[in-house]
Amino acid sequence: MRIAVPKETTPRETRVALVPETVARLVKAGQEIVVETGAGEAAGFTDDAYRTAGASIAPSAPSTYDGSQVIAKVREPIDNPAVGKHEADLVPEGAVYISFLGRDKTTPAVTKLAARKVTAFSMEMIPRTSRAQSMDALSSMAGLSGYKAALWGAANLGKIYPLKMTAAGTIAPANVFVLGCGVAGLEALATSRKLGAVVEAYDVRPAVKEEVESLGGRFVQVELASKDTATAGGYAKELSAEDQQRVKELLAAHVAKSDVIITTAAIPGRKAPVMVTEAMVASMRPGSVIVDLAAETGGNCELTVAGETVVRNGVTILGPINVPATLPLHASMMYSRNVHSLLKLMINKEGKLNLDFEDDIIRDSCITRAAGAETQPAVAGKAS
Ligand code: NAD
Repeated sequence: MRIAVPKETTPRETRVALVPETVARLVKAGQEIVVETGAGEAAGFTDDAYRTAGASIAPSAPSTYDGSQVIAKVREPIDNPAVGKHEADLVPEGAVYISFLGRDKTTPAVTKLAARKVTAFSMEMIPRTSRAQSMDALSSMAGLSGYKAALWGAANLGKIYPLKMTAAGTIAPANVFVLGCGVAGLEALATSRKLGAVVEAYDVRPAVKEEVESLGGRFVQVELASKDTATAGGYAKELSAEDQQRVKELLAAHVAKSDVIITTAAIPGRKAPVMVTEAMVASMRPGSVIVDLAAETGGNCELTVAGETVVRNGVTILGPINVPATLPLHASMMYSRNVHSLLKLMINKEGKLNLDFEDDIIRDSCITRAAGAETQPAVAGKAS
């Protein structure tokens, strides 16, 4: 079976869907892998490294997609001006497409894939279960983002993090406040602690208190009117206006004394909740830093501008987008292992595609499904 690894075309995307290590494993298992020339370059993987792993290198996007049964990508298909086509139109009819595609089945990318009778799997829709952990790209990427946010916080602060007792006097440790303690928040907490900061953390889900404390953080408890703050799947629910107000009031004092705030609060499919208002920013000391990891979905800070760094009252507010792409090597390695785990679930002992829609991982992560998809191979004349 032929598996294609096209070069990503989304601006500033540096990741690649399969790294040479994974390619070697797939080749060993009898798969044919074709990689578009330069696909791994931005992540530090040369064409030669892919050749050594057993892949063939295709000179262009069309020759990469052509005749492939599976397309492994990081990002959704977009217009590719270099070939004058939408990438979805390069995917062979009936093929399987794997990438981050979101949860919305009506986006132009998903609609176009559906029109081509492609069976597409969205990495955001992999269930958050123990069995699916090795495929959970959201967690892999969130962990890296939390780590990077902690480093950005430290690097933009005109202070050091650890307590220092020196001949030149005692330096108090920096105070970091983490808002939202999912995968990214907990990693930001752990990294900030390793750098020597005192860390407080808050999440709407009280269940994370233990995790925060086990990482050396102090959990900030807020009594809410509603006790029902998480879905059965463990995701946060949107708070009522009354509870949102209560949270803001109680967090204000913690915000005011923080040197660095790292915000990661998200509600799947919704705009990010605003937790740090303009007035709260005004209460912070000049020189303080906010790293808003929710910038892409509207920001947890009222003053965040996605993709930019703004300074208000001396407070630096970073609104980074696509943070994993700033760590392309490890982001690609982890994503590649996630995709490989998913592929293993899709491929039978004979090395052929065998999509079992009774399996909750296959069923839940499939965002569009062509009729007869389970009886792949689907690309006429090219199946092996
Ligand atoms: P996320 O990115 O969806 O959200 C980040 C955090 O923001 C969450 O902890 C959420 O509770 C919090 N949040 C949302 N609104 C908030 C508000 N108004 N105030 C404060 N905090 C707010 O989170 P995630 O990292 O994707 O994790 C979501 C859930 O999935 C968690 O329960 C996590 O334990 C679970 N999870 C399970 C697995 C697994 O079982 N394989 C893997 C990863 C995550």
